[in-house]
Amino acid sequence: MKELRGGNRKRIKEHNRILVINHLRLHGPVSRVDLARHTELGLSTITYIVDELLRDGIVVESGSGESSGGRRPTLLEFNGAVAAVIGIKIEPTRILFSSMDLMGRIKEKTAVPLPREADSRELNSVLIENIDRLVRELPSSSPMVGIGIAVSGLVDHDAGKVLHSPILDWDEHDFRPVGRHFGVPVLVENDANAFALAQMWSGQASQHRCFLGVTVGIGVGLGIVIDGQIFRGEYGGAGELGHLVIQHEGTPCYCGQRGCLEMYASDDFVLGEAKRHIALGIPTQMGDPSFLTIAQVYGAARSGDACAQSIIFKQGQNLGIGLKNLVNIFNPGAIVLGGEGIAGGEHLLQGIASELYTNFFAKKQPPVQLKICELGEDVWLIGTCALVVNQLFRAPIYKRGSYA
Ligand SMILES: [Zn+2]
Repeated sequence: MKELRGGNRKRIKEHNRILVINHLRLHGPVSRVDLARHTELGLSTITYIVDELLRDGIVVESGSGESSGGRRPTLLEFNGAVAAVIGIKIEPTRILFSSMDLMGRIKEKTAVPLPREADSRELNSVLIENIDRLVRELPSSSPMVGIGIAVSGLVDHDAGKVLHSPILDWDEHDFRPVGRHFGVPVLVENDANAFALAQMWSGQASQHRCFLGVTVGIGVGLGIVIDGQIFRGEYGGAGELGHLVIQHEGTPCYCGQRGCLEMYASDDFVLGEAKRHIALGIPTQMGDPSFLTIAQVYGAARSGDACAQSIIFKQGQNLGIGLKNLVNIFNPGAIVLGGEGIAGGEHLLQGIASELYTNFFAKKQPPVQLKICELGEDVWLIGTCALVVNQLFRAPIYKRGSYA
């Protein structure tokens, strides 16, 4: 019993320390008095924790704040440079690597071709080799403390594995040997969830408790955030927006169903419709259908091609059908759109909006905000950093009969 109480004290201390770190990294710089007020901890506890964090280099002093009568208070800031994270995004043709500080600021970034024929062991060797190169460039004052990986498909987040990725044509890939090689945790996340994490952390949804991160491109992905947490479902498979059926007996999908949203809202839909319109003789600047690329369709839309614009609008409408079903279920404050498909711009947004705001629920509440991600391709890397940092500064909680 005595030991348990001792253990509890230690956990409470760790919990308070994490509370202070998280407040500083998300809301800093702040004074000790403000820290005490926001964390609801006593000033003496704050002083003790902050002294320890200053000593460890996790927190640094950063000038003085506004005076409320007496001496100007010293401000405290989380020191993101105290350690580094490696973020990786695996795409159908390349792997993006980056080193970042603990605030998600990118230090180095590189891309290598995805070795499609490689087996699991060879792929992990490619990852290790490139991570090693980035780690060697890190200053000794900033050790690498974790690896985050974003990949499309069904991911077992807890086990650090990809279970199935149709776009990459993978089954069962285990990333844990990469973590073991460097002696750090490796955290794997579905790319749409990593996208949503980045929006929550430093993107356009940080003020929303509930929002949806939607990625459009080769596939259609969804990251659901409820009460500031990624919702993964019971087995990690939540958010398969691309396989929401929007057309009974519609186009066959590779998943085995017919009429999936992805068949009506992905790159292939846009390209297929463009070719069909050209074949029908509809006037358009889009060139030879046999060499047509998705980038050319977007380019034509931007330069005023009505045919290309109408196809992207239709893609938006189709996506809007899926999204309004989600809005009715989740009542999100915002939908943030990302992925290569956002090159469709205003025409995509107009198509979505034409479906989204039609029912009386939408008219009686503040309308869900539709936003386009502004973080570019870095969004995935920032998301993987958030994944690692959230784990690193996770408060100890009581779970399933033991402290986890
Ligand atoms: Zn499907």
